[in-house]
Amino acid sequence: TFTPRDIPEQHNEPEQLEKHKYITQGKIVLRFPPEPNGFLHLGHVRSIRLNFYSAEQLNGDCYLRYDDTNPANEKQIYIDQIEDNVKWFGHKPTHITYASDYFPFIFDCAIKLIKENKAFICEQNREEMKEFRRNKQPSPYRNRDMNESLRIFNEMQEGKYPESKYTLRLKIDYQHSNPTLRDPVAYRVLYTQHPKSGDKWKVYPMYDFAHCICDSLENITHSLCTLEFEIRRELYYWILSNLNLYKPFVYEFSRLNVSNNMLSKRKIGKMIEMGIVNGWDDPRLLTLAGLRKRGYTPQAINDFIDQVSVPRGGNEQIISIKLLENCIRKELDKKVPKIMAILNPILIDVEIDKNTIKQVYVQQDDVKLIDNPEFYGLSPNKQVCLRFFGVVLCEDIILENDKPKYIKVKLISTDLNDRKKLKGQINWLDKQDCIAATVNEYSYLFDTENPAEIPEFWNQINKNSLQIYDVKVPKSLEYKIGDRFQFERNGFYIVDSLKDGHIYFNKIVGLSEGEKK
Ligand code: ATP
Ligand code: MG
Ligand code: MG
Repeated sequence: TFTPRDIPEQHNEPEQLEKHKYITQGKIVLRFPPEPNGFLHLGHVRSIRLNFYSAEQLNGDCYLRYDDTNPANEKQIYIDQIEDNVKWFGHKPTHITYASDYFPFIFDCAIKLIKENKAFICEQNREEMKEFRRNKQPSPYRNRDMNESLRIFNEMQEGKYPESKYTLRLKIDYQHSNPTLRDPVAYRVLYTQHPKSGDKWKVYPMYDFAHCICDSLENITHSLCTLEFEIRRELYYWILSNLNLYKPFVYEFSRLNVSNNMLSKRKIGKMIEMGIVNGWDDPRLLTLAGLRKRGYTPQAINDFIDQVSVPRGGNEQIISIKLLENCIRKELDKKVPKIMAILNPILIDVEIDKNTIKQVYVQQDDVKLIDNPEFYGLSPNKQVCLRFFGVVLCEDIILENDKPKYIKVKLISTDLNDRKKLKGQINWLDKQDCIAATVNEYSYLFDTENPAEIPEFWNQINKNSLQIYDVKVPKSLEYKIGDRFQFERNGFYIVDSLKDGHIYFNKIVGLSEGEKK
């Protein structure tokens, strides 16, 4: 977990420290600043943990701040979902705020910089600007008259100009060695409806311009972000210095990646759009909604996050998905009821005596037409033990499409000693005592370890990532949505839905290798 000691020395400006000690009375103030342009994923939990959890440990405050500066991508359902996710982890934001709450102040900041000749209205299009910035050349509009810039900027907000005709750019240093300081854009015109402020604003601040001002206004003591923002730190401080605003400490940490998965809202959105998965809460995704539907708990997710170190430098981290699976397995193993459930059931007639037949279900993988020494299940003319019942001899296997459809066995002995002689014990359920249900079993969406590095990742999708099975479960139990069970020898399952009384389970995770037998 993050502690203030981790803050690099160079940001430690004593007068700033004094200032926020005064403002916050020595309290740590952090924030979690997601953009509501998709559902949160496992990577975000690192940020949730570093911000909310650290604040709780240090008796500080933590804001949930929506970074809603780009209405083109942002939606109310994402806003609602994010709040729900944060609550799911048991965190209570001290305040819930929106970057858009500060739009009037941020607009005034822009006006102030224009008046001080530190910002200008530019007419270069995106490509020209990119080219000029790359070549360290000044924009031809850089010396535009301050009053003209002021007038155009106000007119942009009045809705007089189409999108992308003008931008407001900061006049910093077009030759700066750090490209983010080469006169970056601060504002652009957008006519998209904003989820919070509707059509009130026609100009929207860029992330870089808004983020530091929001942090400052909220008296954030430590602004934690992922390492790709490290290069932007200088700009963050330039803006606050030139506006004479209080400066938080900025600290960067590495992004979390998980093998065989992609943690990027944009790419997950793309998979939804392409119909590869069934929405943001698809149980194959590592979105928090997906993990929740899959049967993961906040506790297991936090355990995983805490087990993975947070390096500050080096390459992107790819953590094995198996570590996450171990965390949920370990938690559920202690907590959930163990039941007998028969996956892919096959009906068998057990002849107890000439007049009595008992019908039971056994699991398809406990039946083989051709026996082998490692196989302990049913094969023609073989004796096996039905667990807690007795030794049976397999007399007949009837096939349908080359698969066992019906099996006839004869009870030979119920003697405990006879049962013990046989190596394998087969699970079964009495036909009378069970009900039919369905299992969705998931495997990884990608066969490759790091799909994020493949540009056309949609070509690397594992086409069999969802398999649907029939299952028989004991009738005597109650099954409510969200209930979790261990199916003996099979793994952990959660009740996903109930449709007209029919139960649908999601497989959460299999058993560890050692536990299967
Ligand atoms: P994405 O690329 O998935 O959209 P983002 O970084 O744009 O992610 P934000 O909504 O800006 O997402 O994220 C809020 C916070 O969560 C930020 O501080 C961000 O750095 C952090 N975060 C996002 N993804 C990860 C990740 N994979 N590992 C660690 N932190 C992350
Ligand atoms: Mg972001
Ligand atoms: Mg993003």
